[in-house]
Amino acid sequence: MPFTPFHLGFGVFIFAICPFIDITAILIGTIIIDIEGVLYLLFKIGALHGYSHSLLGVMIYLIPCTFFSWIFYKLLARMTKIEFRFNWILSGISSLIGLISHIIFDGSLYPEMMSLYPFSKVQGHLIGIMSYQTVIIILISMFAVGVLIIAVKSLLRFKFEKNILLSYNLLKPLNIEDSIHTES
Ligand SMILES: [Zn+2]
Repeated sequence: MPFTPFHLGFGVFIFAICPFIDITAILIGTIIIDIEGVLYLLFKIGALHGYSHSLLGVMIYLIPCTFFSWIFYKLLARMTKIEFRFNWILSGISSLIGLISHIIFDGSLYPEMMSLYPFSKVQGHLIGIMSYQTVIIILISMFAVGVLIIAVKSLLRFKFEKNILLSYNLLKPLNIEDSIHTES
């Protein structure tokens, strides 16, 4: 659980190198599974790395994760008065990547995890593929490199496009050309 924020590093890096990815969906995907840990720590419900730290969790959280991303863009559109493009499939894939990354990173650290549940109840499938230090170094590096790439790209694009938000595919406003494309 104290490890949760480190997962965000993966999402930041993937978005930095694949800007068509839905940043909101992948970031939510990297951490949402730890709701299980929060419930355990606060109310002693379930386990720290129980049933949802598995393929079951990936399946359970895929739709909420994508939906939360859609809500985020709706709110952003309301605040900025710009109509944002939202692609359910792309956001679903982004959520999926974030969710699976959580299982892989956690799975290599926690022996109690049943990564393949509900298909298998065997624990510790992924244990030891990376040491604790390696996982921490990978995720911190991904965050740092990701932020650097995004910052450089944003600075360059801001210079030309004068708007950082509009420089990413998902955040482009619908314009007349887009409407023509969707109608045809
Ligand atoms: Zn976790």
